[in-house]
Amino acid sequence: MSRRVVLIPGDGIGPAVTAAARRVVDAAGVDIEWDLQLAGESAVKELGEPLPKSTLDHIRECGVALKGPLTTPLGRGYRSVNITLRQELDLFANVRPAKSFPGIKSRYEKIDIVVVRENTEGLYSGIEHFVTPQKDVVESIAVFTRRACDRIVRYAFEYAKTNDRKKITLVHKANILKFAGTMLFEAAARYAREYPEIEYEEKIIDATCMQLVIHPNQFDVIVTTNLFGDILSDLTAGLVGGLGVAPAANIGEGNAIFEAVHGTAPDLVGGESANPTALILAAAMMLSYLRWGDAAERIEKAIREVLGRRLVQTPDLGGKATTQEFTHAVIAAL
Ligand code: ATP
Repeated sequence: MSRRVVLIPGDGIGPAVTAAARRVVDAAGVDIEWDLQLAGESAVKELGEPLPKSTLDHIRECGVALKGPLTTPLGRGYRSVNITLRQELDLFANVRPAKSFPGIKSRYEKIDIVVVRENTEGLYSGIEHFVTPQKDVVESIAVFTRRACDRIVRYAFEYAKTNDRKKITLVHKANILKFAGTMLFEAAARYAREYPEIEYEEKIIDATCMQLVIHPNQFDVIVTTNLFGDILSDLTAGLVGGLGVAPAANIGEGNAIFEAVHGTAPDLVGGESANPTALILAAAMMLSYLRWGDAAERIEKAIREVLGRRLVQTPDLGGKATTQEFTHAVIAAL
């Protein structure tokens, strides 16, 4: 049966990597009807706003979107469209796997870590203002609700169970953020009791960063707050080959958006050298979500096979292949 999926090409290298992912998904033989929608800088140019209502409506109708990276202006300008999408659609869980690939040079082997990041609040609540008339004091407010703490921890335990993972590490800063930390601990204590088969531990964010660099194989599933998850998932991406190979899923109750961890990489635009692996892997996560697990597995296998051949790697991984050449190779391997 055909399934409609929203496709947002995005900005910078977005159109190149989404086109690659679309071709690979189509070649995998699943019946997807792509619904092309705009967001980000390209939407500002065409429709005068970064997140047109029609784009949001189409995602709500389809329930699923594959999205390229979107430009987020630094400082002034419009609010991050990524964050607005996550909050509008209540995509509360951001799942970011980092898995070693054959053929990619990195410091460690056999890394297999999944960061589950709370996706709707914390320091990303969007509450920031000047406190004094002279504008020399700013308050940037982190919001933590019991509901969000509870559901992200529950999601992590359920994810661990359904994906046959053995351990959950709750990463926090409860020595400084005492109230928020306590709320997370209380949620985790409840689910650790409900899922006794999954080992549970708590680690402070600073110690976690050090241990991820020194001894990463001790980690399995990490569940953490929005900001810590943002930072840790770039770190875990770095452990397996960098941003070019790091996919992400934003999951809510009835909607999900799949994307790459990386941004628009403006330095690569026009160069034909973007690595589409992250977005292709995100598309594979999307297929699993849509219960096309077999196609998802075949795509992952093809990516592993092609990455294993160093000649077909893109420049970020030390190779010379273009986005197109890499994509051709993945489709041929499929
Ligand atoms: P943005 O402002 O949209 O976050 P950015 O350049 O600051 O963009 P990223 O796009 O996340 O941040 O990437 C940082 C750097 O990593 C890029 O400049 C690029 O060199 C490299 N990079 C990111 N994604 C890829 C990719 N898919 N293929 C190759 N290199 C990449």
